[in-house]
Amino acid sequence: MKIIDLLTQKSLSLSFEVFPPKTQTSFESVKTATEEIAKLRPAFMSVTYGAGGGTSRYTLDIAQNIKQHYGVPALEHLTCVSSTKETVRQKIREIQAAGICNVMALRGDVPAELQNADRSVWDYRYAVELVYELKQADADFCIGGACYPEIHPESSNQTEDIKHLKEKVDAGCDFLTTQMFFDNNLLYNFLYKIREAGITVPVIPGIMPITNANQVVRAIQLSGSFVPQRFKSLVDKFGSDPAAMKQAGIAYATDQIIDLYANGITNVHVYSMNKPDVAAKIQSNLSDILGK
Ligand code: FAD
Repeated sequence: MKIIDLLTQKSLSLSFEVFPPKTQTSFESVKTATEEIAKLRPAFMSVTYGAGGGTSRYTLDIAQNIKQHYGVPALEHLTCVSSTKETVRQKIREIQAAGICNVMALRGDVPAELQNADRSVWDYRYAVELVYELKQADADFCIGGACYPEIHPESSNQTEDIKHLKEKVDAGCDFLTTQMFFDNNLLYNFLYKIREAGITVPVIPGIMPITNANQVVRAIQLSGSFVPQRFKSLVDKFGSDPAAMKQAGIAYATDQIIDLYANGITNVHVYSMNKPDVAAKIQSNLSDILGK
């Protein structure tokens, strides 16, 4: 099932993100966690891909398992920045052979050791080149791309960032998923600007339930997201009490989703981070709204 065909319904639906194991040793525990999330019957599940190659080999195994055994459409992430054309083309053939038709085309983060390398000789410098590659493949992929309501950290300004986003969409992205954000107004503002710039594909907001105080620091370092005072107060009050912090973080994410739906957004992607209990709690908080 193509994700683009799931994005037309009028009622709220949730999708969940998981990440693959780093090593064979943790494969079974990660597989079990992703299966528990699949049993919640989300609209689809996305499986991340390690940019440096470290966690890349199990992405397809996890995606295929979710799809084959649980009937949940899988979105396979694929990055290109430190890969050769040969590697990427081989990966695309494997994805196709596994029967996965949804691919999230990402550049990936440039590994620290390559920060000062000569990028002009790389096979891929931007995600748009991976979108072209997927379009040229002998397959009919539904292609997703990443977008950044608060600007990608490497962009000097939002106009430039949106210009490049438009190029990526025009190259063949069927939908976009956003970086996490903690203030919905940032998303509404971003949507207004990209629609004005002529980007018309569906945009799926990405919501990260923050369930422990350390995660706040990590998430913000990685994403550069703005943290509203209302969220900071939760961390100040509950940060040292893990159970209370988890409850407050899930409640905050639930509130964000309700506000998005109240403002006309029907598909929300939850960065559930291999935590079935968090995914289940968000879903049960919204049970009447979701009709589940
Ligand atoms: P791009 O679209 O290539 O954009 C990167 C930067 O380059 C932006 O600043 C853009 O404005 C600029 N740019 C684009 N085209 C041009 C151009 N022609 N000339 C000049 N500048 C240009 N990372 C992983 O490693 N694995 C994952 O599974 C993963 N999943 C993600 C899922 C989502 C929803 C999001 C939001 C991010 C994800 N990431 C993942 C992180 C992502 O790889 C990084 O944010 C990365 O730095 C940018 O990837 P991109 O695909 O957005 O790149």
